[in-house]
Amino acid sequence: MFPEIVVDLAAVRHNVRALREHTGVASMTVVKADGYGHGMVEVARAAREAGSEWIGVATLDEALALRSAGDRGRLLCWLTFPGADWAAAIDADVDVTAYTVAELDEIAATGRPARVQLKIDTGLSRGGATRDSWPAVVERAKQGERDGSWRITGIWSHFAASDEPDHPANDAQEQAFLEALELADGLDPEVRHLANSAAGILRPSSRFDLVRFGLASYGLDPAPGHTPDLGLVPAMTVRAPLALAKPIPAGAGVSYGHTWVADTPTTVGLVPIGYAEGVLRSASNAARVLVDGKQRAVRGRICMDQFVVDLGGDLPDPGTEVVLFGRGAHGEPTAQDWAEVAGTISYEIVTRIGGRLPRRYV
Ligand code: PLP
Repeated sequence: MFPEIVVDLAAVRHNVRALREHTGVASMTVVKADGYGHGMVEVARAAREAGSEWIGVATLDEALALRSAGDRGRLLCWLTFPGADWAAAIDADVDVTAYTVAELDEIAATGRPARVQLKIDTGLSRGGATRDSWPAVVERAKQGERDGSWRITGIWSHFAASDEPDHPANDAQEQAFLEALELADGLDPEVRHLANSAAGILRPSSRFDLVRFGLASYGLDPAPGHTPDLGLVPAMTVRAPLALAKPIPAGAGVSYGHTWVADTPTTVGLVPIGYAEGVLRSASNAARVLVDGKQRAVRGRICMDQFVVDLGGDLPDPGTEVVLFGRGAHGEPTAQDWAEVAGTISYEIVTRIGGRLPRRYV
């Protein structure tokens, strides 16, 4: 056995179907950042098989890589900016996102009939047309439809705090989105969309024509403490063989800086992956892993290629499976457990995992 990331594509398919059923509207599976660490091409394929009408990515390079890998369905890319290679995107049949009149002018200048989605900033203060510029963006969009430069296929926005259902920004953003749609009267987009995973699950009024599901497609909880049980299945398991088990005496310091010192004699095990594989160093002395059916604590600092766990006096054979995180069905921690002890979110746990680890698809 070697250290590896195991990705359960049946779980992805199951999640995509369950989410679509829950919302009753079309779904876009978000596969940016290499499919949240699960493999962009493989996840996109699984999502298409499960009926996801759209795939969403951030960068144009991601969109083009999906096309090169044979993906032919509707595909939206949103992290474009002035000077982007619009022609390449249009030639690859990618729906591009525009925020500004200047971007629309650049798209028109390609001379290619494009599919364009307009993004309005409703309160995240990140990408998207400002409210002040929106009427001008809409006017330019209408003009381009008239002269055949493009078809406006979507109007969309993104929430700032959908994982906190009671956050006042949610109502405000939804209201701002409705106002933007009203101002865009005369455009007739195929899809109007606002919701990501948390909003799509928790906030029916935000679903419009389509929900952009990222995290939940991978079986992870987008709003811990709020999400109803939809039977989503975490798709990623990270496992490694135990490299070594050995006794240490009381008083032995463990790993760099001796941030943990054994107060009684114990046994420790060496797990041969580290922060170069995305095992977050901030989980040092805090995370737990499953060894031989028992949860064991990480002791001392997580190193670049390895970390140490407390085996509590047991001496399992080298090669014994260590599960860092997975589905949680067999006593192993989940990505959410790691996120909590590392002071982050499960998004970061799964997108950071990689480095030298191969992925195996099941
Ligand atoms: N839509 C946009 C524009 C995003 O950037 C993201 C990811 O951050 C998503 C949808 C998916 O979000 P989530 O993973 O919370 O479903």
